[in-house]
Amino acid sequence: MIKAHGGRLINRILEGKEKESMIKKAADMPELRLSTRDLTEAENIATGLYSPLRGFMNKEDYRSVLENMRLSDGNVWTIPIVLGVSEKEAEEFNPGDQIALKDKEGALYAVLDLEDKYFADKKNEALKIYGTEDSEHPGVANLYNRGDIQLGGSISMLKRIEHERFNEYRLDPVDARKKIEEKGWKRVVGFQTRNPIHHAHEYLQKCALEIVDGLLLSPLVGETKSSDIPVEYRIESYEVVMDKIYPHDRVFLSVFPAAMRYAGPKEAIFHAFCRKNYGCTHFIVGRDHAGVGDYYGTYEAQEMFDNFTPEEIGITPLRFEYSFYCKKCESMATSKTCPHDSEHHIGLSGTKVRKLLREGKRPPKEMTRPEVADVLIKGMAETNN
Ligand SMILES: [Zn+2]
Repeated sequence: MIKAHGGRLINRILEGKEKESMIKKAADMPELRLSTRDLTEAENIATGLYSPLRGFMNKEDYRSVLENMRLSDGNVWTIPIVLGVSEKEAEEFNPGDQIALKDKEGALYAVLDLEDKYFADKKNEALKIYGTEDSEHPGVANLYNRGDIQLGGSISMLKRIEHERFNEYRLDPVDARKKIEEKGWKRVVGFQTRNPIHHAHEYLQKCALEIVDGLLLSPLVGETKSSDIPVEYRIESYEVVMDKIYPHDRVFLSVFPAAMRYAGPKEAIFHAFCRKNYGCTHFIVGRDHAGVGDYYGTYEAQEMFDNFTPEEIGITPLRFEYSFYCKKCESMATSKTCPHDSEHHIGLSGTKVRKLLREGKRPPKEMTRPEVADVLIKGMAETNN
């Protein structure tokens, strides 16, 4: 089994006596109420999804990630995982404090051992992580809305977040690893997606599946921008293909609870590490992975992996081209495998597909399977997307 990033899968979830005594202590701690997004980040740290992180980044790690794409211990890491609060909130806390982390209703979820509090370096973070200071960029907009002071330190989780949806697909890294072990897979490819499945994605996944033992479908269910297809229809589209189009014993689905950053190349590395923590040995990196608008070059995310040695990354990126159906080849193909002119290609255009679906029409079957199209037509109708 592949090692977690940094060598060991982190577990910051307290159990038994340890948990009971921490809950008692927490009654006397100063408290901080977190948004669902921040609470989810705490949980993602606690389950080891963000291994080797043990908490929200302190100043040294934050600086190091911005400037060097590494944690202060040298491990490659490309996305800041920070807890931003307002200056007023930060006045309540001092390094050395233990802080009770609660949800908006006041339920206790975790304890933060505060190591340091420091100013966010937002302009620099925008440029270094997103490559732009433009507040139209959804990741940058989210960054600008974050509190100006960051609280760094390790966390201990006392209570898991209760989710209304997709509980059958919520595997912690430790569960995903167990499942992979049970199946006896040596090589597993992870596929990150925030889209429903069209033929182009199916092709990439199946190409990858030809060279490994199993496929982990890992659709993101954290926050996305509002113009993305609603998550329940994205998941349903996957259920349809898993049932009818994929070999049941070679695929499983586990949702990815993190929020989208739209940080393109830097987020591609982050996505790969999270899948490595789930036990994947390979990771599909398509064109403009985790991109938005035209902020990143088509191959920037794939090229980002070349900044590091294979040992430093630990998971193998599989670089894929844009795929399409070629009428001459009479199959799915990419520019790597098809010699024909683009006039013979039926390709996926997000805008065109959305227009058809909104009108209640199935896109050509070479683009989207009819049974998937029906799910998305239903989704479009119910959400007026
Ligand atoms: Zn062709």
